[in-house]
Amino acid sequence: MNSAEIRKQFLDFFASKQHQIVPSAPLVVKDDPTLMFINSGMAPFKDYFLGNKPAPYKRIADTQKCLRVSGKHNDLEEVGYDTYHHTMFEMLGNWSFGDYFKKEALAWSWELLTEVYKLPKDRLYVSVFQGDESENLPMDEDAFNIWKSMIAEDRILMGSKKDNFWEMGDTGPCGPCSEIHVDLRTEEERAQVDGKTLVNNDHPQVVEIWNNVFMEFNRLADGSLVKLPAQHVDTGMGFERLCMAIQGKRSNYDTDVFQPLIQFIAKEAGVTYGENEKTDIAIRVMADHIRAIAFAISDGQLPSNNKAGYVIRRILRRAVRYAFTFLNFKKPFLYKLAAVLADQMETVFPELKQQLSFVQRVIEEEENAFLRTLENGLKRLDALEDKFKENNNTIDGKTAFELYDTFGFPLDLTALIARDKGLKVDEAGFSVEMEQQKNRSRNASASEQTDWVILQPDVVNEFIGYDVDTTESHIVRYRQVKTKNKSEYHIVLDKTPFYAESGGQVGDTGYLISATEQIEVLDTKKENDLILHITSKLPQNPEVAFKSQIDVERRNLIRKNHSATHLLHAALRKVLGEHVQQKGSLVSEKVLRFDFSHFAKIEEAQLREIEHIVNERVRQSIPLEEQRNTPIADAKAMGAMALFGEKYGEFVRVIAFDREHSVELCGGTHVYNTGEIGYFKIVSESSVAAGVRRIEALTAAAAEDYMQQQLNELNAVREVLGSQSNISGAVEKLQEENKALQKQLEAFELKQLTTLKDSLVQKTQQLDGVNFVAEQVNVSNADYLKKLAFDMRQAVDNLVLILAAEIEGKPQIAVMLSDNLVSDKKLNASQMVRELAKEIKGGGGGQPFYATAGGKETAGLQAIPAKALELVKSMINNG
Ligand code: ATP
Ligand code: MG
Repeated sequence: MNSAEIRKQFLDFFASKQHQIVPSAPLVVKDDPTLMFINSGMAPFKDYFLGNKPAPYKRIADTQKCLRVSGKHNDLEEVGYDTYHHTMFEMLGNWSFGDYFKKEALAWSWELLTEVYKLPKDRLYVSVFQGDESENLPMDEDAFNIWKSMIAEDRILMGSKKDNFWEMGDTGPCGPCSEIHVDLRTEEERAQVDGKTLVNNDHPQVVEIWNNVFMEFNRLADGSLVKLPAQHVDTGMGFERLCMAIQGKRSNYDTDVFQPLIQFIAKEAGVTYGENEKTDIAIRVMADHIRAIAFAISDGQLPSNNKAGYVIRRILRRAVRYAFTFLNFKKPFLYKLAAVLADQMETVFPELKQQLSFVQRVIEEEENAFLRTLENGLKRLDALEDKFKENNNTIDGKTAFELYDTFGFPLDLTALIARDKGLKVDEAGFSVEMEQQKNRSRNASASEQTDWVILQPDVVNEFIGYDVDTTESHIVRYRQVKTKNKSEYHIVLDKTPFYAESGGQVGDTGYLISATEQIEVLDTKKENDLILHITSKLPQNPEVAFKSQIDVERRNLIRKNHSATHLLHAALRKVLGEHVQQKGSLVSEKVLRFDFSHFAKIEEAQLREIEHIVNERVRQSIPLEEQRNTPIADAKAMGAMALFGEKYGEFVRVIAFDREHSVELCGGTHVYNTGEIGYFKIVSESSVAAGVRRIEALTAAAAEDYMQQQLNELNAVREVLGSQSNISGAVEKLQEENKALQKQLEAFELKQLTTLKDSLVQKTQQLDGVNFVAEQVNVSNADYLKKLAFDMRQAVDNLVLILAAEIEGKPQIAVMLSDNLVSDKKLNASQMVRELAKEIKGGGGGQPFYATAGGKETAGLQAIPAKALELVKSMINNG
């Protein structure tokens, strides 16, 4: 059975058990400060388990893209070395939200594995939670009894809290779980060692494939467990591991999920997969990492220098490093793999194929940049080699850490290079540096949350700010959050006009007002579907009614900028083409910023056209067409485009300004009529990453102010020029005149220089067969001083020339000697100029026949001719 069939059978099986099949959520998590990437199938459904929101279906099944490279679940360092952990993998899952429980879940998983996929029963083991005294939890007897009716009792293993009590994070929903493991060893291997002893023991052919979690508890901040109001089932099966089991392979990488990538890499590298452990690991790393990189980028996460973007950058660099070191790929290569992957995944995850050229461009640019960094790091190591040799042939921990931190060299790479050079690495020193950095970032970001104080259980918060700016609200729950130097409160209301930051639009500010006090709302944010009003204090009595009131003026500015962003998006697609896709946006009260895919700088004329189209729409005063709760299919039929990496429900909100022109899926707040925008002005166009451009623009009064400022500046110029109608013509003319004058000046100065030279020739003194000249002269730059000296050399034989001049406020001296004086009389211009430079508190040097010096004391110039005479006399007499 190939992998596509395996996936399909899973979904078909659960559809036949009345499960709603839903698409995978994007890998990148937006409204959840506790999670950067989806790391398990249940993550997109967190709100349903927490009771923040009712589940739309009681039964759901899907295949979910997961990434385990940060936080509680981090498998990155294993990947490539073992054969069954990936960075990005698919988790097949089925869920019950307060519906069926252990009995059905376990029976169905057994039916699917043994009857549909026909895995032999004598190769499967299951595990059951054995209980835990410290948590005061009993053994999971229900699960044990259910299994006993289906599988031989000696294949049911007892598991500790570590393996059989699943927790999403430090707090939140959790419960006992029951895992299914498969033994894929050969008959001979199985005869030698009992498979039971290898379960949960890191054996590459005895692996966990499926985990059935029974969500019963909520873990609170103080560590205690409380029962959830309802019981749920959350299961997750590793798709790639399942394929390995069904296809009878010994490694996930031997299945048809990975083979196309592996064969492509091996061919391009000129090696055979399976012949050499080192190159095999590198090939696996690349085949694995390209999936994480390509899907993260196609879901909207560009590599960058912080947070989620940095995680992706580091995965990419890890892949490049293995490719570079072990497979000799010295040029960008990974980006080519994205095409292989896109073809393979097209029917399940079409988003990659649809954005392939964009994704490839981003990857290639990153590869190029990192390969340059690698080279610089290697150079740095070379440059410090002598220092390391003196340091007992050791690369010190600080340098090793610098290479890691700034150049992306992990310790093992540094060690590898060190070995080639006969050096060691101070690994302990490296760990110390690493620990220090971790502490620094931990301290900066450490925050503590209290559990929610729940005033109204089962109340779901509702946003009513599309229609009203103020309402009467009650507090549903609140908590305190303490970070290093501040403490804030998160308040959830039953009804609220406050828009929580999302979709690029900033959160509202305003007030919660009761009969006795007024609490300022500093910002509004989202945590999944909870709307958090952020305040610096709590009301004295949180139970009373509040008038919740947003800052209307600020919201109005935001609305204008948001609607203008839609008009801009439409105009960009019209002028630049349909390849323009939104890649990010910021809509605040001050400015709007829009990032989008496009491959070249936008020409000035195009920018003007885009701006003009937007302003035309503004002048047409197009009314807002808003549709809430529209089925997503209808919205798409209207022409609305779903953004990649955005999670949409079945019902969406559509915002249109003239259906022919702009239709978007959007949760933001908008003007009722485009006329409100007043005026739209682009203020900058720039690049943010490979293939991504950014436009910043202003609307309404801010745009007017901006234009006024520009005009003021122009007027100031006009005034200086003296009431000119053709300003640019006038400035050009000034520039031309300036150039002509410059030329005249030069010619004039050269002429003067000749006169100066002639007068110096006149002043030549005879000193013991030497023609001596020492003068303070007037020249405007150092080049002229040099020219004067060389012209003198041409004009006078046996020349000893000393010139002193003030150039641009600083004293300078030049000494010029005829060649025969250097060779016969052993005079030296460098020596002489250094001696003379003492007068001007300076120094210098040059060649034996010509040398110059600069100094600090201009007043000393006067004394130079007399001192020079003395110096030369003494030198000639001594020589
Ligand atoms: P393991 O102990 O093997 O790391 P886990 O206990 O972390 O697994 P769960 O969190 O229970 O796994 O996830 C459910 C299923 O997802 C696992 O049974 C496994 O099949 C799969 N899985 C987990 N982590 C990975 C990974 N990094 N790569 C591929 N599949 C994975
Ligand atoms: Mg794990």
